[in-house]
Amino acid sequence: MEASGVDVHEVELRRIRLPLARPFRAAHGTVAERDVLLVRADDGWAECVAPNAPTYTAEYTDGAHHVLRAVLIPRLFEGRGLEDVKGHAMAKAALTTAVLDDELRRSGRTLAEHLGVTRETVPAGIVLGIPDNGSMPALLSEAEAALAAGYRRIKVKVRPGWDVQPVAALRHHFGAPVDLSADANGSYTSVEDVELLDHFGLTMIEQPFAADDLLSHMACAASLSTPVCLDESITSAAMADAALAVGACSIINVKPGRVGGIAEAVRVHDVCVARGVDAWVGGMSETGLGRTVNVALAGLPGFRLPGDLSASSRWFPVDITAPFELEDGMLRVPKQVELRMDVVEAHTTSKEVLTRG
Ligand code: MG
Repeated sequence: MEASGVDVHEVELRRIRLPLARPFRAAHGTVAERDVLLVRADDGWAECVAPNAPTYTAEYTDGAHHVLRAVLIPRLFEGRGLEDVKGHAMAKAALTTAVLDDELRRSGRTLAEHLGVTRETVPAGIVLGIPDNGSMPALLSEAEAALAAGYRRIKVKVRPGWDVQPVAALRHHFGAPVDLSADANGSYTSVEDVELLDHFGLTMIEQPFAADDLLSHMACAASLSTPVCLDESITSAAMADAALAVGACSIINVKPGRVGGIAEAVRVHDVCVARGVDAWVGGMSETGLGRTVNVALAGLPGFRLPGDLSASSRWFPVDITAPFELEDGMLRVPKQVELRMDVVEAHTTSKEVLTRG
């Protein structure tokens, strides 16, 4: 499963700036454009999903760029593993995914084939950010457009002070059948405040407390009837197993970047399957390149809930691959994905190539 990289001759680190379709705000910050780090290992490409600032986890684009250049790529060229480098999950994921993509291209296989995925489509979900000025009509019209477009679930970003009102408004406006969740990105400090969200039939409440606060998540999961889902807390399959074992959550959001790569994401999936709990694939507002990985991964049988997997146009007016589009609320599991190099070139802000010495 793990790509070795022993045959890789050169690795390119390329930064591109892509404007978002519209600014996106969550409890941990606002983003209006993505400064994306692309990694090429010979003919294989991957996207580093680290955001521009260290506000989701500790990782951020400049930091990932540095550790790739100074530590991870030299190790790859020296034939040493990446395992004894602590942290830097998103940077490691980008490098190992680029190496895997190179291997798959050379053997003419798709990522879905590599993963053993047989589903051809996966259900699409959408994340609604916190609107400017807390505008409820703006939130409702965005949700209305998403449901009309066919999205199978709606997730709303919440934080203390922007929680009960938007969740109640969405539930009141669209009724019980709409699959509705809330994601707090760790912005709560009291179980009582989270309990206020327990009366709206939410499919789940995601990451109410800080990533390392398993005790509050345990208390919350014990007190609420709404399932608790963990995102930022789950940094590995071992953490997933521990969080489920102690009852800190009953659903897990899997992101390959957050857990250090595709192979570890599959191991988290397998933990969820072994424990009989629901899991789904999250997103980091990826370009089509990162979206390809997420959508292929979401085809695994344990991912039984719709993920945060949207059409490309939800995030980017222009994407660096052919856009993902909704088909009756589903996204098609990609075959071979080609980068639109003209779009990549037009948005490139820097490029460096490291060569095996
Ligand atoms: Mg989340």
